[in-house]
Amino acid sequence: MSQDYYILKTLNLKDENIHFYEEYVKEEIIKGKRCLVFQGYLTYIPEYCPKCGVCYNDSIEKHGFKKSLIRIPSVSKIATFLSLNKQRYICHNCNKTFTCTSNIVNYGCNISNNTKHSIAVDLMKKKSEKDIAIDNNVSPNTVERVIDSYYQLNNKVYKNSLPEVLSFDEFKSVKSADGAMSFQMCNGKTGKIIDIVEDRKLNNLMKYFSRYSRNARSNVKAIVIDMYTPYISLIKKMFPNALIIIDKFHLVELISRSLNKTRIKIMKKSKENYNKLKRYWKNILKSRSELNCSSWKKYPCFKELTTEQDIVDYLVSIDIEFEETYQVYQDLLYAIQNNNIQVLESTLNMKYNNISEYMITSIKTLKSYAIYIKNTFNTGFHNGYVEGNNNFIKVLKRIAFGFRSFTRFKARIMICKGLINIKEKEVKNC
Ligand SMILES: [Zn+2]
Repeated sequence: MSQDYYILKTLNLKDENIHFYEEYVKEEIIKGKRCLVFQGYLTYIPEYCPKCGVCYNDSIEKHGFKKSLIRIPSVSKIATFLSLNKQRYICHNCNKTFTCTSNIVNYGCNISNNTKHSIAVDLMKKKSEKDIAIDNNVSPNTVERVIDSYYQLNNKVYKNSLPEVLSFDEFKSVKSADGAMSFQMCNGKTGKIIDIVEDRKLNNLMKYFSRYSRNARSNVKAIVIDMYTPYISLIKKMFPNALIIIDKFHLVELISRSLNKTRIKIMKKSKENYNKLKRYWKNILKSRSELNCSSWKKYPCFKELTTEQDIVDYLVSIDIEFEETYQVYQDLLYAIQNNNIQVLESTLNMKYNNISEYMITSIKTLKSYAIYIKNTFNTGFHNGYVEGNNNFIKVLKRIAFGFRSFTRFKARIMICKGLINIKEKEVKNC
């Protein structure tokens, strides 16, 4: 095997028309940085003139070289270039010149396709665009162009099919989105993101879903949502066969928020119990069955030996409003955790004299969503995956120090989540 073969193999360049000079690599300073520059030339005999189509034998002649400096992936973490002399030809038939071309780099571009692919692979990692640019020895603009080119190439959402179970949720997005919130839709069974929409306003989502075929929409059997009213009108209009399911996590969150607000209100009123109420907030939110009632220990802020359950009992007994609110909270929590619709309905419909205004609001909300909560209890679908996706998006955004353009943010999420395929062959001009 020749020296050319091994160098091409090492540099992962798949073009046998590239040959290397005897002194095939030099160290040079380019833009103040130490770089490796491989020295090669590209030549082959063209079959015909690309300008006029005349055959080689007739009137084509060699016409010197054209030099180009191509960025290739780093070797041993040192920025690496390929200085390539490309054979030029002149055609006497049309009196025009042309240059040999190679598949390692696109026409008119000096960044090799391998580099672009390496950028794309980096884009799948939780890494900022700036770091990717530094690691690949390119400018941040190049990284952005690679993102855009993959996105334009592969952003195909199939409008003719949708899974049986969908999850809707929103996430904190770029500033330009309405209320800085964007919409995401996932497969409710696998958690795979299907698409992301910048604006979660009702008419905008209506427009978006009207692009899906009627068949695809009527195939959807259930949709898990949080308590955001526009989603309900959206589903009723666009998904004729879908069951509306309220996510369990959001139900628990709603009632625990109102209990917590009540606790803070009582805390501010009662100076002597301030520290205790502050320290044991987690125990107050816990389900009663999870509290320990048998192991007696010394707890901070309490003089005598006591148990978790006794602590909570003491704290809620401080105030009648707090006590009654706590009872309602526990009943609702029990109903939600055990899918018990009877307990839920009786708790919601009971008359209360002393519960806090926060809990009253929550009860009102739950009452208005009661028919959908029944579906929650009966089906067991939840939005757990979506919350996982949201966390991932948050991390990605923090690493990137925020995104300015929604499209690029979306493209990055789609690439990281493997929804946009990064294939070596598909590197297009960018
Ligand atoms: Zn010609």
